[in-house]
Amino acid sequence: MGLVVQKYGGSSVADAEGIKRVAKRIVEAKKNGHQVVAVVSAMGDTTDELIDLAEQVSPIPAGRELDMLLTAGERISMALLAMAIKNLGHNAQSFTGSQAGVITDSVHNKARIIDVTPGRIKASVDEGNIAIVAGFQGVSQDTKDITTLGRGGSDTTAVALAAALEAEVCEIYTDVDGVFTADPRVVSKARKIDWIAFEDMLELAASGSKVLLHRCVEYARRYNIPIHVRSSFSGLQGTWVSSEPMKQGDKQVEQALISGVAHDTSEAKVTVVGVPDKPGEAASIFRTIADAEINIDMVVQNVSAASTGLTDISFTLPKTEGRKAIDALEKNKGAIGFDSLRYDDQIGKISLVGAGMKTNPGVTADFFTALSDAGVNIELISTSEIRISVVTRKDDVPEAVRAVHSAFGLDSDSDEAVVYGGTGR
Ligand code: ASP
Ligand code: MG
Repeated sequence: MGLVVQKYGGSSVADAEGIKRVAKRIVEAKKNGHQVVAVVSAMGDTTDELIDLAEQVSPIPAGRELDMLLTAGERISMALLAMAIKNLGHNAQSFTGSQAGVITDSVHNKARIIDVTPGRIKASVDEGNIAIVAGFQGVSQDTKDITTLGRGGSDTTAVALAAALEAEVCEIYTDVDGVFTADPRVVSKARKIDWIAFEDMLELAASGSKVLLHRCVEYARRYNIPIHVRSSFSGLQGTWVSSEPMKQGDKQVEQALISGVAHDTSEAKVTVVGVPDKPGEAASIFRTIADAEINIDMVVQNVSAASTGLTDISFTLPKTEGRKAIDALEKNKGAIGFDSLRYDDQIGKISLVGAGMKTNPGVTADFFTALSDAGVNIELISTSEIRISVVTRKDDVPEAVRAVHSAFGLDSDSDEAVVYGGTGR
């Protein structure tokens, strides 16, 4: 039996009881004959609390120091977990990201992993230890400073280590039983997905599904590491994310026509009003946004009014970047040439994802029918080969998600969607 990498999120190790429960699970895997590397997140809402604290002493904390502070959260859980495992009579050693060989670029607060050199981890497990690794952190190759990978980055640590250690599987333990056809916190009839392809999972993650981060799935696809998302609170099989359909027992799992419905209420909409309808206008608006290092999502340009020759251009972006975008556009107002800006943070995005869309006509029509039956007004639309997304009023999102979920026959007859923990913060 080979090596497994297991990752436990903050809600799984929220308190001493949680840490002891996770320690037992890890020891179980070891007893079953696996070499085990466990990646942990900070306990409960520790990361948020540390950010709050930092903001109390400085409105814009220095990136380097914020990383130093936040990595302390994972250090606490890794050390406690190693102690709990030792208490069960097994050998464990904890390692910081830097000690585990997680090498990143030097961008503080959202560093990218550029290499993993897990020599110490390999040696530790070869000696018979269980290795515990602090998630979400690394060390910059250039500056040698400690970095963090961005919120939720422990999943990426786990997949990156699994790739470098050639693990059999990367198990992501969380507070739900796997990936669901919609967020179980919104759709109580959401169904657990047995298997989902990397492509569909990437679209769900990009559309706001929080169960796995986009970057983590991207990494897993690049190195072809199967991910098993499951609950640390139950013994159930979770969701397999991989390139090829997995056999479950003796039943061959089929690719679903529709994988699920994702939603996102973390975005805002900017409308640039009164833009002259001539070549180069969109280019200068989006150059301004790009120069401010802001990623945008959907874009729509209205038909221009014949009488004025002016048009409106709307786009969506993370709310956290709203201020920056407005400031950048205002600064270039003269050069770009527009009348005014409108900012709206009361929007939500609903996306339907499924590889079957490519070959099934009518999916778009059914999607819009479901929204209209629910009385939901659509403000923006965007599509990819395997996804349709719309922007609506934020207050309409829960109802819209439930309506689309039912319309595509995704509702489960049993209440299988259990949320075991976490504050959803
Ligand atoms: N503790 C970090 C966070 O809350 C990393 C993680 O949980 O994956 O974002
Ligand atoms: Mg966390």
